[in-house]
Amino acid sequence: MSKPVFAIIGRPNVGKSTFFNKLIGQRISIIEDTPGVTRDRIYAEGEWLNKPFILIDTGGIEINSEDAILKQMKMQAEIAIATADVIIMLTEIGAGVTAADIDVATLIQKSGKPIILVVNKVDNIGQTPLEIYEFYNLGLGDPMPVSSVHGRGTGDLLDKAFELAGDSSNRIEDEDAIKVAVIGKPNVGKSSLINNILGENRVIVSDVAGTTRDAIDSYFENDKGKFVFIDTAGIRRHAKVNETIEKYSVLRAKMAVERCDVAIIMLDAREGVTEQDTKIAGFAHEAGKGCIVVANKWDITDKNGKTMDKMRKEVQHDLPFMSYAPVLFISALTGQRVDKLFELIDFVSNQNSMRISTGLLNEILSDAVTKVQPPSDKGKRLKLLYITQPSTKPPTFVIFVNNKDLFHFSYQRYIENQIRNSFGLEGTPIRIIVRERGDKSSD
Ligand code: GDP
Ligand code: GDP
Repeated sequence: MSKPVFAIIGRPNVGKSTFFNKLIGQRISIIEDTPGVTRDRIYAEGEWLNKPFILIDTGGIEINSEDAILKQMKMQAEIAIATADVIIMLTEIGAGVTAADIDVATLIQKSGKPIILVVNKVDNIGQTPLEIYEFYNLGLGDPMPVSSVHGRGTGDLLDKAFELAGDSSNRIEDEDAIKVAVIGKPNVGKSSLINNILGENRVIVSDVAGTTRDAIDSYFENDKGKFVFIDTAGIRRHAKVNETIEKYSVLRAKMAVERCDVAIIMLDAREGVTEQDTKIAGFAHEAGKGCIVVANKWDITDKNGKTMDKMRKEVQHDLPFMSYAPVLFISALTGQRVDKLFELIDFVSNQNSMRISTGLLNEILSDAVTKVQPPSDKGKRLKLLYITQPSTKPPTFVIFVNNKDLFHFSYQRYIENQIRNSFGLEGTPIRIIVRERGDKSSD
């Protein structure tokens, strides 16, 4: 299973950021330089008993401060429902249950997502105060007492969160279906593509209360294969543009990428690659997913016979880390080449899960070394001893060498290219792990 996503929601001052920090410790990665998303901690990856997880503090997402608490919490709930495997609703012992808590509890309960009700600020170890019983009124099951300041109860909580994530059934899990995330900045045409593919007459999810389990991902089957489009509720809802939704669109893209096999990075063909596109493409690359760059709105792009080639080169130049990705020019509006997109998804997904035999790999390695001598330093020459592929998605290779320091980036790039030249691996990042002989470290 990929990393489960836990999202925290709750009123201001119940202790969400304190709780977030406690659960994550120091390992914080901040989503930043995205207009609108605050630089607060809203997203982090943590680890519990060697199992990785993703934590989102929905309270950290900038929400209009004039909004009433209930409205803010509804927005948090919406984000949590859309992105999380398990929702952690935080309350606190001192203030008890408020009207907003009750409304929000009803909302998240309807979503069908697993929920953990946490009562924070229960600082006295060993004593569970009677006030905790009040929280049963929320109808979210047993409240878990926690002290975020002391860390009390946080281990039990993570145990429970993993347990609930394990059997979360709110996603379409068809082993054969390829999971596809369509990502890109607002207005490039993501929802138009999804609508084109799924047909206009499907129910559009209109509000949080109406969000149903199956509306989050959409299953689609045609003669090219079986596909699950991830988080289509979020994409489609965007049609009624809402400022706050734009603010977390980047976070959402990141979450969708975590769960996909293939990411479709959508650009506006008329604009080329923008800074925000680069950032979004970076998520897919770093997550090791199959990647396809789609330049949309081809129907209204000024073009002549050379435009496509020129633009393909431009994309490769502007997304240099993703030169392996095929570029497809489509119109989500007219459906031009959308057919071709399905072929590519299938192809790229296969490339992303390609397994190459150790024998073949070592042949390539020894040919490569013969063609271009490995670098040396102070009389010591790099020796490439052995290569093997321990895992796929993305294809990951371990190369054993005599001395890691001699294996410079440029020579690694050369080896990577030799592997790609022999096996294609089009549309997928690959990882190369370098080990010294006798080195047993696990990364
Ligand atoms: P947020 O607005 O929900 O993110 O809340 P904060 O994390 O900023 O916390 C609000 C206040 O509650 C701060 O003064 C925290 O120090 C305090 N607080 C948070 N967790 C606990 C706790 O477990 N026990 C106590 N006593 N105070 C806490
Ligand atoms: P999203 O924010 O990425 O989901 O973008 P939308 O699908 O909502 O599209 C934004 C606008 O671009 C809408 O007015 C669409 O009709 C228009 N649009 C999307 N794809 C195309 C396309 O391929 N060609 C043309 N001409 N317009 C498009």
